[in-house]
Amino acid sequence: MLRELRERVLIAGKKLREYDLIVMAGGTVAARDPETNLVVITPSGMEYENLTWEDMCVIDIDTLKPVDGKRRPSCASDMFTAVLRARPDILCVTHAHSRYATAFSALNREIPVITTTQGNLVGGPVPCTHWVHPDPHTPEYLQDIVDTMGSGYAVNIRNHGLVVGGSTVEESIENIITCEVTAQTTFIAEQMGKPYFLTPDETRRAHAFAKSVVGQHIK
Ligand SMILES: [Zn+2]
Repeated sequence: MLRELRERVLIAGKKLREYDLIVMAGGTVAARDPETNLVVITPSGMEYENLTWEDMCVIDIDTLKPVDGKRRPSCASDMFTAVLRARPDILCVTHAHSRYATAFSALNREIPVITTTQGNLVGGPVPCTHWVHPDPHTPEYLQDIVDTMGSGYAVNIRNHGLVVGGSTVEESIENIITCEVTAQTTFIAEQMGKPYFLTPDETRRAHAFAKSVVGQHIK
């Protein structure tokens, strides 16, 4: 069931490691199939290296009950399905505890738009959730993530890490990698001096430009 989507989710999970966003079994990818509304999600606590598409789990978007797959789905399935239900335009959500972005979350500081690439792809800064959540999986936790993301594509959970969406699996991965690289670039630039950050208008223009001409995955 949903073999092609499960293969794409596995490739996406491997890219999190390839681009140094995760260590060990950290990081999760969840994608909604627009035809069936089922969600493909990476398994709980397993490193992606030796997995196959059959290790990817298929769950119901509302009940979170397993529909297909031999593994136990990510323990954060509730967070991914909450975002996917709230945002029909987002078909994939990726989560990682990447170092630089998480450092910004520990400072309760948004990741600014320091590159036109961040403007092109993500379309804005990355805000932090309103609260630290030592007890996740509560309705307040899920609502904070959905509310903070708003109509954007990314949110940084305080003292935890990034949650980033996209209109495809590949776009979600590209967006989360861009957010992490943007956080790292900001850190480096601030060691060197006082960097310039794009204004909201410049960010909007960069995003509009990319939507019109760059790549093949951006709609
Ligand atoms: Zn996490």
